[in-house]
Amino acid sequence: MPKDKRARKFKHPITIDGHVLRPESLMMSYGYNPEWSEGALKCPIFQTSTFVFKTAEEGKRFFEIAYGLREKEVDEKIGLIYSRLNNPDLEILEDRLTLWDQAENAAVFESGMAAITTSLLSFLKPGDVILHSTPLYGGTEFLIENILPKFNIDHHHFYARDQYIRLPELAEQYGSRVKIIYIETPANPTNDLIDIEFCADIAEQLSEKRGEPVYLFVDNTFLGPLWQQPLRHGADLVIYSATKFIGGHSDVVAGAVVGPEEIVDTIKFHRSIMGTMAGPWTGWLLMRSLETLKLRMTAQMKNARYVARFLDEHPMVEKVYYLDLLPEDSEQFKIYRKQCTAPGSIISFDIHGGEKEAFKFLNSLKLIKLAVSLGSTESLAEHPATMTHADIPPEKQREMGITEKMIRLSIGVENPEDIIKDIEQALEQAFKG
Ligand SMILES: *Cc1c(COP(=O)(O)O)cnc(C)c1O
Repeated sequence: MPKDKRARKFKHPITIDGHVLRPESLMMSYGYNPEWSEGALKCPIFQTSTFVFKTAEEGKRFFEIAYGLREKEVDEKIGLIYSRLNNPDLEILEDRLTLWDQAENAAVFESGMAAITTSLLSFLKPGDVILHSTPLYGGTEFLIENILPKFNIDHHHFYARDQYIRLPELAEQYGSRVKIIYIETPANPTNDLIDIEFCADIAEQLSEKRGEPVYLFVDNTFLGPLWQQPLRHGADLVIYSATKFIGGHSDVVAGAVVGPEEIVDTIKFHRSIMGTMAGPWTGWLLMRSLETLKLRMTAQMKNARYVARFLDEHPMVEKVYYLDLLPEDSEQFKIYRKQCTAPGSIISFDIHGGEKEAFKFLNSLKLIKLAVSLGSTESLAEHPATMTHADIPPEKQREMGITEKMIRLSIGVENPEDIIKDIEQALEQAFKG
């Protein structure tokens, strides 16, 4: 991708006398002025469906912009109209969400799936093709395989292990029909990595072939926004299930996208029509979560490193799937070095035996909770083959590297020795008798 196209996606940094402020320093205040709310230090919850216009002329102006009836003037901002179109809690949250990825624009949704669905439907039309990595999040895979085909939108997939061969083949074969390359990296639950820059280059080549933009969308839920920033590597849109690390407390379902102005604006327009925006309470909860995002993700990642090392040395564990344990001479390690800055806190491992041993392990955990979802303050464990990935037929699961003996862990902020003690005793229980 040409350098200028990449550069265009970034916002100017915020500085004090030329010193660039880091996102964690801005998460408490950016985008909010206490004078707007009686001096309240914290942004209140604007629990209102509609907003009062000062004059009829003002109302007319706001709608002209909201409905695209005329071009925005320089520095002209859309005023507050109605909470399906805009709301202060969402706007301030969106401003803060741009900071980690250094994106121009952001949009938040009431779920990760709402973010994914709205983003795809904003750009696809009948006859288009999606090329995607697999495995994808179950809901996304279902949308692409079972719902979009009803609208004559086709899909073809590639694996991490064959990405450098299969993706160019698919691009060659479906070239003029491809509209979106959609990837999830690291993949769930195997932590397989897809090369973002490589996919961005293919999207760029296809754009030229098709004579209109072909986009690379990246679901960055597992490592972002702290440990992987796909816009830097040429992605056109970054998608989050904010239910996971961004929310981080297992108490809210939400989604977000960040990217260049024009792409996110198009998505926001469709969000207004489809009604998939987040509510003010969700927006407020996520602003609160963002203040501790770096602290939480750093503590979780450090804990996960200890846990992965412990598992790797345990005689009852066959294989550990964790980015920190990639062999240094592997292709996967090269991708890791290029696009990730830390291994994150999702670990999968194969226990010796099969479903029986895996279930005994899960049933014996005392501190770690048996639940799906991930990225929260508490550690969670689950069995992908019969839970998160149960709708995938067994033979396809095998192809994806999902086995009956696989357990997925999401490591929280507890004391690492306590987490390890719990895993140690549950492994012991799994092989008793
Ligand atoms: C959870 C998840 C989603 C879906 O998000 P929801 O907030 O549950 O709608 C999408 N992608 C990934 C990688 C996820 O983990």
